[in-house]
Amino acid sequence: MAYFCKKCGQPFSDLYVLTHSGSCTKGGCHEPYAGHETGPFHCKKCGQSFSDLYVLTHSGSCSKGGEHEPLD
Ligand SMILES: [Zn+2]
Ligand SMILES: [Zn+2]
Repeated sequence: MAYFCKKCGQPFSDLYVLTHSGSCTKGGCHEPYAGHETGPFHCKKCGQSFSDLYVLTHSGSCSKGGEHEPLD
């Protein structure tokens, strides 16, 4: 079982650690991703699929503007 941060895509083995580790690379605290833990992951804005949540959150340019955001 893995938990992912929906902002930076970083995986954590423990949800408590995710919510208490403090510094997300995207700013603020990590926020748990509520969706499924295995790919493909879809951007909720443009629908593009990614095999890795980390790639989704770091690929930069969404066709709808800004960065891709995972679909919960
Ligand atoms: Zn994060
Ligand atoms: Zn997108």
